Amino acid sequence: MPATKRCAACERRRAVAAFPVRRANADGLDSYCRDCRRAYFRRWLARNRAPYNAALRRYYAEHADAMRAYSRERSESRRGYQRAYQRRRRALMPAGRWKPRASYTE
Ligand SMILES: [Zn+2]
Repeated sequence: MPATKRCAACERRRAVAAFPVRRANADGLDSYCRDCRRAYFRRWLARNRAPYNAALRRYYAEHADAMRAYSRERSESRRGYQRAYQRRRRALMPAGRWKPRASYTE
């Protein structure tokens, strides 16, 4: 797999890490980069806010028990991750070496 891919929307050539996973595509990646996919979704959401919210509410109503069970099941490992993350953050912050998030750019 090549390390870069051209975005079908902005036509920039970007690192494959800048593309969301989309298993249905031949290369397993979205044809839009994350920035363009996000912008597209925001525009779509502006036109479809009410039906989108209604669909989310319907999904939650049908799957509330399963979602609560999953959340309960994951709570222990989530807490462990949070503790480790905050410990790392506190250790690096005073030295100015803390980076909030790895960026996807090139
Ligand atoms: Zn793009």
